[in-house]
Amino acid sequence: MIEIVFATNNSNKLHEVQAQLPKRIKLISLKDIGCNEDIPETQNTIEGNAIQKVDYIKKKYNLDCFADDTGLEVEILNGEPGVYSARYAGPEKNADDNIQKLLYKLKDKANRKAQFKTVIAMHFRGKLITFEGICKGEITENIMGSRGFGYDPIFKPLGHSKTFAQLSLNEKNKIGHRGHAVAQLIDFFEA
Ligand code: IMP
Repeated sequence: MIEIVFATNNSNKLHEVQAQLPKRIKLISLKDIGCNEDIPETQNTIEGNAIQKVDYIKKKYNLDCFADDTGLEVEILNGEPGVYSARYAGPEKNADDNIQKLLYKLKDKANRKAQFKTVIAMHFRGKLITFEGICKGEITENIMGSRGFGYDPIFKPLGHSKTFAQLSLNEKNKIGHRGHAVAQLIDFFEA
């Protein structure tokens, strides 16, 4: 049996990942280890933030752990909003405002190529390991669909005619950035 902390405050994410992992891997939540503080995420890259989170847990609690961090990178905006995806339009982290800001910045732009990137960083048995999941696509001109969260209503994955917000969660997980990164984590434990 392997026990490992998943450093997330999102209990949905924890249950989703636990359901996909082999039974011998048991995920421990931040609550389980008595970690109620905000873990700092002050780096200027997605990888940097994922690593910062696991370094914090490793140092403070001396436990094996993993954490994920995600950003939307728009080609013509040199990778913006990237690591600032959650607070693109301000510290309130409002998804509708973020979407409106991005649509405004891309107004009249022909190149609408973008990608979601998830990095999972993990401290495991004395090693720091990272896994990266990418989903390429484009930013639509209008909002379409009501499922999902964040930028889902304006992100159309490559080869699909629907936005993430028009796809089921199952479909999104199959082709999505986080799904790809989690699949690598699972492969690591199943190897
Ligand atoms: P986090 O690192 O998972 O908290 O993601 C940071 C921010 O990226 C979120 O607040 C969203 O704005 C955006 N984001 C992350 N994953 C997704 C996704 O699957 N769909 C749409 N937006 C996302």
